Amino acid sequence: MVVLITGAAGFIGSYLVDAYLARGVEVIGIDNLATGSPSNLERAHKDQRFSFIEADIARDAERTGELLQAGNVRPDLILHFASPASPKDYADLPLETMAANAAGTRTCLEVASKCNARFLFASTSESYGDPLEHPQKETYWGNVNPVGPRSCYDEAKRYGEALTMAYWRTRGVDARIARIFNTYGPRMRENDGRVVPNFIRQALAAEPLTIYGDGTQTRSFCYVDDLVDGIMRYGDAASLAGNVINLGNPKEFSILEFAKIVAEVAGVPLRFGHARLPEDDPTRRCPDITKANALLGWQPKIELRDGVAKTIAHFRGAAAPH
Ligand code: NAD
Ligand code: UDP
Repeated sequence: MVVLITGAAGFIGSYLVDAYLARGVEVIGIDNLATGSPSNLERAHKDQRFSFIEADIARDAERTGELLQAGNVRPDLILHFASPASPKDYADLPLETMAANAAGTRTCLEVASKCNARFLFASTSESYGDPLEHPQKETYWGNVNPVGPRSCYDEAKRYGEALTMAYWRTRGVDARIARIFNTYGPRMRENDGRVVPNFIRQALAAEPLTIYGDGTQTRSFCYVDDLVDGIMRYGDAASLAGNVINLGNPKEFSILEFAKIVAEVAGVPLRFGHARLPEDDPTRRCPDITKANALLGWQPKIELRDGVAKTIAHFRGAAAPH
């Protein structure tokens, strides 16, 4: 079996690479290193079944095709994870974000169509925008501002979802969509601007944790090992073409509660700093994972405090190589 993973040098992508290599299959990673890091692939490079193509999936469609052909590679499964993912990254790279999820998704679907490969698109809870339905089920169409600062990401992912469904409907590609909710863990970039690395960095520096707005907005945090387990079950399962499945942890916390947990686990006194709530920051977010549970037998196992402890250990540099 050959698995092609775009965004392989990123946070989630690199864990997927390691997990498939651990299964003994061949893995090809593609990444342009826009927001990822070669250090995430140090472990993978020790495995002969891993190969890496440094390319932009949105711009180098021909080159990607040529490289795959030259290597005589026909993937069986394509996981499209290439895209800036943190609000700071996609605000800095709006056009690149749109391209990765539009042209990039199309390139992957073309390869899937030619190779008769299964395709899985890494979509997002941002497809629901600032949701009016709670918790969010896959049947909810969302509440997205199409011209706001998050639209480059939200609408690009929604377009990627539409493209995925069109290739399934009209080309018969075995294409699937995962709507991923906030996922965290070691290998997140310390400065990617997301709440998990920000709070951990601040706690370890004995600085106040910066709450955006009043901190009553909620998120549901899924540890990366749980997410990888869910993605692999989805990639393995037969007869799920054309599906949309939420993957995330259904335990919901306000950002204030999350700050308290980080401070407690880090063993530092809790002090708050305050900053403006970013425009269109979703008020509540929590997945309904009934479908993932029914179709994949999946649910997250790792408690938030345990996952935060592992992540803090990594940020302290005290963790064993992960
Ligand atoms: P990340 O930024 O760590 O990883 C993304 C990777 O994609 C990076 O290595 C980057 O260099 C690469 N990339 C970006 N554009 C590319 C392009 N055009 N060609 C090739 N490579 C490109 O982010 P992450 O948190 O690991 O997210 C991975 C995927 O999962 C993204 O598609 C993201 O939208 C999705 N997702 C993540 C979360 C989360 O909470 N982490 C939630 C929902 C969805
Ligand atoms: N947030 C915060 N302080 C920070 C970073 C983020 O209070 O230093 C808040 C942010 O406003 C949002 C939540 O934490 O409500 C999660 O933000 P993140 O950027 O991690 O991801 P999002 O879920 O918004 O994509």
